[in-house]
Amino acid sequence: MAGWHRREDPEGQLLTTYDVIVVGLGGMGSATLYHLARRGLRVLGLDRYDVPHEYGSSHGLTRIIRLAYWEHPTYVALLRRSYQLWRKLEQDAGEQLLHITGSIDAGPADGPVFSGALRSSELHGLPHEVMTGDELHRRFPGYRLPRGTQCLYQPEGGFLLPERCNLAHLAGAKAAGAEAHTQEQVIEWGATSGECWVATSKASYQANRLVLCAGAWASKLIPELTGLAQPERQVLAWLEPSRPELFTPERFPVFYVEVEEGRFYGLPSFLVPGFKLGRYHHRGEQVDPDSMHREVEPEDEELLRGFAARYFPDGAGPALMTKTCLFTNSPDEHFILDLHPEHPRVAIAAGFSGHGYKFCSVVGEIMADLCQRSETRHEIGLFRLGRFQGLGSRRAVPKSAPTERK
Ligand SMILES: Cc1cc2nc3c(=O)[nH]c(=O)nc-3n(C[C@H](O)[C@H](O)[C@H](O)COP(=O)(O)OP(=O)(O)OC[C@H]3O[C@@H](n4cnc5c(N)ncnc54)[C@H](O)[C@@H]3O)c2cc1C
Repeated sequence: MAGWHRREDPEGQLLTTYDVIVVGLGGMGSATLYHLARRGLRVLGLDRYDVPHEYGSSHGLTRIIRLAYWEHPTYVALLRRSYQLWRKLEQDAGEQLLHITGSIDAGPADGPVFSGALRSSELHGLPHEVMTGDELHRRFPGYRLPRGTQCLYQPEGGFLLPERCNLAHLAGAKAAGAEAHTQEQVIEWGATSGECWVATSKASYQANRLVLCAGAWASKLIPELTGLAQPERQVLAWLEPSRPELFTPERFPVFYVEVEEGRFYGLPSFLVPGFKLGRYHHRGEQVDPDSMHREVEPEDEELLRGFAARYFPDGAGPALMTKTCLFTNSPDEHFILDLHPEHPRVAIAAGFSGHGYKFCSVVGEIMADLCQRSETRHEIGLFRLGRFQGLGSRRAVPKSAPTERK
């Protein structure tokens, strides 16, 4: 790969050139920057906000990690690597980032959540136990799921600390020589057969390769993703338990459950003394991330409190904290990890559909592989853009290099 050098742009200003530029320093971008820098590449990371910040998808103190992946068994191998890389990051950072509580995937016996978790567990030989709602309550008394609910307990589930993880990836990248600029928005990018460039709110840069990890803003930077990476408003609540001792990490596994009211996820009290929960696809609100309503309204809280009152009555007290956040949904809710279809020097990580955080560490490794070798040893067939043939927008992305633009 090309080394670092400087060139002049058409206005005679110096253009700094890198091996790789990473756009977005949230969960995926900070991990990508870390892996690239540790492979000895000269890298620049750019974010329009700070690291961390609360406008995207990677804030809110905790994120579930679970191995019995009901969404598809393909994720399990990636998760095993993710766990290894999170533990490695903890060693580098000298702090605990991953907490093990066990995980519950529950729902009707023939529903996708329980049956998918069971399938992944059996296919991959994961340790697991199946129990009824009653048995689950006896084991973990904070849970009051209906008697007939099928519950799969997997002991390796737990949670990550996303803001700390993003900072640990960034610090590790910087220690390996990466440059990172926050408060610098990428306005335009392009690629030719020989190089890539980005124009930001402050300057222009060139690179051999470009990685776009823009989260909810993905389709603003990559118009081809319009309709394939759709931002959606989400709400999180931390409710004060009447019996806090039932909602500690030692006694309360993280969960993903399918009930009459929809699919919900939840975590034990940690840092905030509240039972944390959210509804997957909260109120189905498709939004523009630049104009999303970021206040939490009474009806948002009621929706979450109603679920808690019915299934976790000892955890359904007053709200201690609430937050909005953004999902970025792909049509099949599987990720988008691929090279750009028209610009093979550009790699894309997008469409994490509300379940991506646990994979940041391995996605960083995959993006670094795609930059270095245009391929990866990881199985990413499920995540290729080609599966959406005929879907999404086919508007052209900017293609010209800075010298051809003006
Ligand atoms: C409420 C909620 C709960 C969730 N719970 C879980 C969970 O329990 N477990 C789990 O695994 N996943 C969970 N997820 C999903 C997970 O958090 C996301 O999939 C993940 O954080 C996505 O990371 P990202 O890097 O794509 O996005 P982000 O972390 O948002 O990063 C994108 C970055 O790109 C930057 N950017 C955008 N445009 C530009 C530009 N033009 N120039 C420069 N920078 C730009 C943004 O500022 C941002 O920092 C949850 C998500 C939400 C919202």
